[in-house]
Amino acid sequence: MHKNLRKTLAIILSTSVITIGTCISNIKDIYANSNSTINICYDNSYDNVVESEERKIAYITIDDGPSKYTDTIINTLNKYNAKATFFMIDRNMKTYPEQVKNIINNGNTAGFHSVSHDIHELYKSNVSAKEEFDKNKETFHEITNLESNIIRLPYGSKPYTPTKSYEMLVEAGYKLWDWDLDTQDWKSNSTQIVENVKRYTQNKKEVVILIHEKKQTVEALDGILKHLTEQGYDIIPIEQNQQPQNFWIGNLYN
Ligand SMILES: [Zn+2]
Repeated sequence: MHKNLRKTLAIILSTSVITIGTCISNIKDIYANSNSTINICYDNSYDNVVESEERKIAYITIDDGPSKYTDTIINTLNKYNAKATFFMIDRNMKTYPEQVKNIINNGNTAGFHSVSHDIHELYKSNVSAKEEFDKNKETFHEITNLESNIIRLPYGSKPYTPTKSYEMLVEAGYKLWDWDLDTQDWKSNSTQIVENVKRYTQNKKEVVILIHEKKQTVEALDGILKHLTEQGYDIIPIEQNQQPQNFWIGNLYN
């Protein structure tokens, strides 16, 4: 009996090792084709990995600031222990330098949103978009002594951005971010904005949310963050070195 028990245990243990071993080799194969299926293998083997696979992430991205609303936005984010990414226009950084510092000091990410915010200016030559973001970097550095390479093109990277302009930005090391949840906040009231977020986040594990520094959006922000928190999202800032998500790469999922 005792011997049989030991034998059974040995079989169980060796089977587990084989299972894990097979699993790891499968991961390599699966990873080579598509990283979206990794969790099939992990499900029964590593509880901690399953947890991270199920993690829900929301990136709140805030365009067109900083502004007179920035401090209120930051206070609301802090209430929910949430961090955001601010895509800032050059003249607004110059008008609101204290808000630029406040963004950083509260653990949010600073990104850039051009000088002109005008597609005719931005794409008038192959290098003009890159030059506008270089100018953003300079302005930001003068205010904070810090660097950032995260950018968002005005009106998104498609359909307006010429291929050459996009390539110049990538070659210069800029990480270009678009979104997959447009709250339509510029034409909505605060109730509609929250409803848009609720509708479009259903069954989504990861979401890049576009909002602007507008009165109605500031009024909606508490409701947005409350909903995302209740739905189990971690509301985190974009990191400098992470793979960007944009319409050119095609890794945003609607
Ligand atoms: Zn904008």
